Amino acid sequence: MPVLSYIHQLFDAEHCQAYIHTLRWKDRPLQCPRGQSQDVGPWGTYHYRPGCKRYWCNGCQRTFNDLTHTLLHQSRRSCAYWMLATFLLCLSCSSRRIARELGVHSRTSYRWCWWLRNTAVSYETDRRLEGTVEADDLYHTAGRKGQAQGGGKKSLGRRTRGRRKKREPGRGHYDKDRPAIIAWVSRQGAVVIQATRDFTVKTVQTAANIAVQVGSRLYTDSASSYRAAKDYVHHLGIFIFCV
Ligand SMILES: [Zn+2]
Repeated sequence: MPVLSYIHQLFDAEHCQAYIHTLRWKDRPLQCPRGQSQDVGPWGTYHYRPGCKRYWCNGCQRTFNDLTHTLLHQSRRSCAYWMLATFLLCLSCSSRRIARELGVHSRTSYRWCWWLRNTAVSYETDRRLEGTVEADDLYHTAGRKGQAQGGGKKSLGRRTRGRRKKREPGRGHYDKDRPAIIAWVSRQGAVVIQATRDFTVKTVQTAANIAVQVGSRLYTDSASSYRAAKDYVHHLGIFIFCV
Protein backbone atom coordinates (compact mmCIF):
# COMPACT_ATOMS: atom_id res chain seq x y z
CA MET A 1 0.00 0.00 0.00
CA PRO A 2 1.40 3.43 -0.85
CA VAL A 3 2.49 5.01 2.41
CA LEU A 4 2.60 8.57 1.19
CA SER A 5 -0.80 8.66 -0.45
CA TYR A 6 -2.43 10.04 2.69
CA ILE A 7 0.14 12.76 3.25
CA HIS A 8 -1.42 15.18 0.80
CA GLN A 9 -4.54 15.18 2.99
CA LEU A 10 -2.38 16.61 5.75
CA PHE A 11 -1.29 19.49 3.53
CA ASP A 12 -3.25 22.62 4.29
CA ALA A 13 -4.30 24.42 1.09
CA GLU A 14 -3.82 27.87 2.62
CA HIS A 15 -0.30 27.01 3.78
CA CYS A 16 0.54 25.69 0.31
CA GLN A 17 -0.63 28.94 -1.29
CA ALA A 18 1.26 31.06 1.21
CA TYR A 19 4.42 29.04 0.53
CA ILE A 20 4.03 29.46 -3.24
CA HIS A 21 3.51 33.21 -2.76
CA THR A 22 6.77 33.42 -0.76
CA LEU A 23 8.69 31.34 -3.29
CA ARG A 24 7.52 33.33 -6.27
CA TRP A 25 8.00 36.86 -4.95
CA LYS A 26 10.80 36.47 -2.42
CA ASP A 27 13.47 38.23 -4.48
CA ARG A 28 11.35 40.78 -6.38
CA PRO A 29 8.32 43.00 -5.81
CA LEU A 30 4.82 41.80 -6.63
CA GLN A 31 4.21 42.50 -10.31
CA CYS A 32 1.84 41.55 -13.11
CA PRO A 33 3.16 38.44 -14.94
CA ARG A 34 1.76 39.73 -18.26
CA GLY A 35 3.16 43.26 -18.53
CA GLN A 36 5.52 43.31 -15.50
CA SER A 37 3.60 46.35 -14.20
CA GLN A 38 4.02 46.99 -10.48
CA ASP A 39 0.83 49.07 -10.31
CA VAL A 40 -1.17 46.25 -8.72
CA GLY A 41 -3.55 45.86 -5.77
CA PRO A 42 -5.48 43.13 -3.93
CA TRP A 43 -8.69 41.92 -5.61
CA GLY A 44 -10.36 39.39 -3.29
CA THR A 45 -10.02 35.62 -3.30
CA TYR A 46 -11.41 32.54 -5.06
CA HIS A 47 -14.13 30.50 -3.37
CA TYR A 48 -12.96 27.31 -5.12
CA ARG A 49 -9.28 27.79 -4.33
CA PRO A 50 -8.82 28.56 -0.62
CA GLY A 51 -5.83 30.73 0.27
CA CYS A 52 -5.19 31.86 -3.31
CA LYS A 53 -5.12 35.67 -3.39
CA ARG A 54 -6.24 37.57 -6.44
CA TYR A 55 -4.70 40.85 -7.63
CA TRP A 56 -5.78 43.58 -10.03
CA CYS A 57 -3.31 45.06 -12.51
CA ASN A 58 -3.92 48.68 -13.47
CA GLY A 59 -1.58 48.29 -16.44
CA CYS A 60 -3.50 45.67 -18.43
CA GLN A 61 -6.81 46.02 -16.53
CA ARG A 62 -6.93 42.32 -15.73
CA THR A 63 -6.67 40.16 -12.64
CA PHE A 64 -3.95 37.64 -11.82
CA ASN A 65 -2.91 35.45 -8.89
CA ASP A 66 0.19 33.72 -7.53
CA LEU A 67 -0.28 30.84 -9.97
CA THR A 68 -0.74 32.85 -13.19
CA HIS A 69 1.75 31.81 -15.89
CA THR A 70 2.89 28.78 -13.88
CA LEU A 71 2.25 25.06 -14.30
CA LEU A 72 -0.31 25.08 -11.54
CA HIS A 73 -2.50 27.69 -13.22
CA GLN A 74 -5.90 26.19 -14.10
CA SER A 75 -4.84 22.73 -12.97
CA ARG A 76 -7.80 20.77 -11.69
CA ARG A 77 -5.68 19.21 -8.97
CA SER A 78 -4.93 21.22 -5.83
CA CYS A 79 -1.51 22.59 -4.91
CA ALA A 80 -1.01 19.74 -2.43
CA TYR A 81 -0.86 17.23 -5.30
CA TRP A 82 1.69 19.34 -7.18
CA MET A 83 3.85 19.85 -4.11
CA LEU A 84 3.89 16.17 -3.32
CA ALA A 85 4.69 15.34 -6.96
CA THR A 86 7.59 17.83 -6.93
CA PHE A 87 8.83 16.46 -3.62
CA LEU A 88 8.78 12.87 -4.90
CA LEU A 89 10.42 13.88 -8.18
CA CYS A 90 13.24 15.52 -6.22
CA LEU A 91 13.70 12.21 -4.40
CA SER A 92 14.22 10.58 -7.83
CA CYS A 93 10.95 8.65 -7.70
CA SER A 94 9.75 7.25 -11.02
CA SER A 95 6.62 8.64 -12.63
CA ARG A 96 4.90 5.27 -12.02
CA ARG A 97 5.67 5.49 -8.32
CA ILE A 98 4.43 9.08 -8.21
CA ALA A 99 1.20 8.00 -9.91
CA ARG A 100 0.75 5.31 -7.27
CA GLU A 101 1.45 7.65 -4.37
CA LEU A 102 -0.75 10.45 -5.64
CA GLY A 103 -3.57 8.26 -6.86
CA VAL A 104 -3.54 9.71 -10.39
CA HIS A 105 -3.21 7.99 -13.75
CA SER A 106 0.33 7.07 -14.79
CA ARG A 107 -0.04 9.17 -17.94
CA THR A 108 -0.93 12.20 -15.79
CA SER A 109 2.10 11.75 -13.54
CA TYR A 110 4.36 11.20 -16.57
CA ARG A 111 3.12 14.49 -18.05
CA TRP A 112 3.56 16.28 -14.74
CA CYS A 113 7.13 14.99 -14.35
CA TRP A 114 7.95 16.13 -17.85
CA TRP A 115 6.48 19.60 -17.22
CA LEU A 116 8.28 19.97 -13.89
CA ARG A 117 11.66 18.99 -15.36
CA ASN A 118 11.17 21.18 -18.42
CA THR A 119 10.19 24.19 -16.31
CA ALA A 120 13.14 23.72 -13.98
CA VAL A 121 15.55 23.50 -16.91
CA SER A 122 14.06 26.50 -18.76
CA TYR A 123 14.32 28.56 -15.58
CA GLU A 124 17.99 27.68 -15.28
CA THR A 125 18.79 28.49 -18.91
CA ASP A 126 17.59 32.07 -18.36
CA ARG A 127 19.76 32.56 -15.31
CA ARG A 128 23.29 33.90 -15.58
CA LEU A 129 25.99 33.35 -13.01
CA GLU A 130 27.36 36.36 -11.17
CA GLY A 131 29.97 37.24 -8.58
CA THR A 132 33.05 35.01 -8.63
CA VAL A 133 32.92 32.35 -11.32
CA GLU A 134 35.47 29.64 -12.09
CA ALA A 135 35.71 28.15 -15.56
CA ASP A 136 37.45 25.18 -17.09
CA ASP A 137 37.19 23.14 -20.27
CA LEU A 138 37.49 19.51 -21.24
CA TYR A 139 37.15 17.51 -24.44
CA HIS A 140 34.92 14.51 -24.55
CA THR A 141 35.05 11.82 -27.18
CA ALA A 142 31.56 11.64 -28.65
CA GLY A 143 29.77 8.33 -29.02
CA ARG A 144 30.03 5.07 -27.16
CA LYS A 145 31.57 2.99 -29.88
CA GLY A 146 33.55 0.11 -28.49
CA GLN A 147 32.27 0.57 -24.95
CA ALA A 148 30.34 -2.02 -22.98
CA GLN A 149 26.59 -1.42 -22.88
CA GLY A 150 25.56 0.43 -19.76
CA GLY A 151 29.14 1.48 -19.05
CA GLY A 152 31.68 -0.41 -17.02
CA LYS A 153 34.44 -2.71 -18.11
CA LYS A 154 33.89 -5.70 -20.35
CA SER A 155 36.46 -8.17 -21.50
CA LEU A 156 37.09 -7.72 -25.22
CA GLY A 157 38.94 -11.01 -25.59
CA ARG A 158 41.82 -9.20 -27.26
CA ARG A 159 44.16 -6.31 -26.69
CA THR A 160 42.54 -2.88 -26.93
CA ARG A 161 43.38 -0.92 -30.04
CA GLY A 162 43.99 2.26 -28.05
CA ARG A 163 42.14 4.44 -30.55
CA ARG A 164 41.55 7.17 -28.01
CA LYS A 165 45.29 7.62 -27.66
CA LYS A 166 45.69 7.88 -31.41
CA ARG A 167 43.82 11.20 -31.51
CA GLU A 168 45.65 14.24 -32.71
CA PRO A 169 47.26 16.27 -29.98
CA GLY A 170 45.76 19.58 -28.99
CA ARG A 171 42.23 20.77 -28.49
CA GLY A 172 39.21 18.87 -29.76
CA HIS A 173 36.62 19.99 -32.26
CA TYR A 174 33.05 19.08 -33.04
CA ASP A 175 34.02 17.93 -36.53
CA LYS A 176 36.52 15.49 -35.05
CA ASP A 177 33.85 13.96 -32.77
CA ARG A 178 35.51 15.56 -29.79
CA PRO A 179 33.55 18.69 -28.83
CA ALA A 180 34.72 21.08 -26.15
CA ILE A 181 32.77 21.22 -22.91
CA ILE A 182 33.06 24.37 -20.85
CA ALA A 183 31.93 24.40 -17.22
CA TRP A 184 31.22 27.66 -15.38
CA VAL A 185 31.00 27.21 -11.63
CA SER A 186 29.81 30.01 -9.40
CA ARG A 187 31.34 30.22 -5.90
CA GLN A 188 27.72 30.45 -4.69
CA GLY A 189 27.15 26.91 -6.00
CA ALA A 190 25.32 27.23 -9.34
CA VAL A 191 26.84 25.44 -12.35
CA VAL A 192 26.42 25.96 -16.10
CA ILE A 193 27.84 23.37 -18.49
CA GLN A 194 28.00 24.09 -22.22
CA ALA A 195 28.97 21.83 -25.10
CA THR A 196 30.57 23.99 -27.77
CA ARG A 197 31.81 23.48 -31.29
CA ASP A 198 35.39 24.49 -30.59
CA PHE A 199 37.43 26.54 -28.18
CA THR A 200 38.19 29.69 -30.13
CA VAL A 201 38.13 33.20 -28.66
CA LYS A 202 34.82 33.93 -30.39
CA THR A 203 33.10 30.77 -29.10
CA VAL A 204 34.31 31.30 -25.55
CA GLN A 205 33.15 34.93 -25.64
CA THR A 206 29.66 33.88 -26.79
CA ALA A 207 29.53 31.08 -24.21
CA ALA A 208 30.62 33.46 -21.44
CA ASN A 209 28.00 36.04 -22.41
CA ILE A 210 25.28 33.38 -22.19
CA ALA A 211 26.45 31.88 -18.90
CA VAL A 212 27.98 34.70 -16.90
CA GLN A 213 26.78 38.18 -15.97
CA VAL A 214 28.90 41.03 -17.35
CA GLY A 215 31.35 42.44 -14.79
CA SER A 216 31.79 39.15 -12.90
CA ARG A 217 35.18 37.95 -11.67
CA LEU A 218 36.41 35.09 -13.77
CA TYR A 219 38.96 32.58 -12.45
CA THR A 220 40.42 30.41 -15.22
CA ASP A 221 43.61 28.70 -16.33
CA SER A 222 45.99 30.47 -18.66
CA ALA A 223 44.16 29.54 -21.91
CA SER A 224 44.25 32.53 -24.26
CA SER A 225 40.56 32.14 -25.17
CA TYR A 226 39.57 32.97 -21.60
CA ARG A 227 42.01 35.83 -21.36
CA ALA A 228 40.57 37.39 -24.51
CA ALA A 229 37.03 37.35 -23.12
CA LYS A 230 35.87 40.94 -22.69
CA ASP A 231 33.48 42.42 -20.09
CA TYR A 232 34.92 40.37 -17.20
CA VAL A 233 37.49 40.91 -14.49
CA HIS A 234 39.98 38.18 -15.22
CA HIS A 235 42.03 36.31 -12.62
CA LEU A 236 44.47 33.51 -13.08
CA GLY A 237 43.52 30.75 -10.70
CA ILE A 238 44.85 27.33 -9.87
CA PHE A 239 42.02 25.16 -8.69
CA ILE A 240 41.08 21.53 -8.55
CA PHE A 241 38.10 20.88 -10.73
CA CYS A 242 35.77 18.10 -9.66
CA VAL A 243 32.86 16.83 -11.76
ZN1 LIG B 1 -0.83 43.62 -16.20
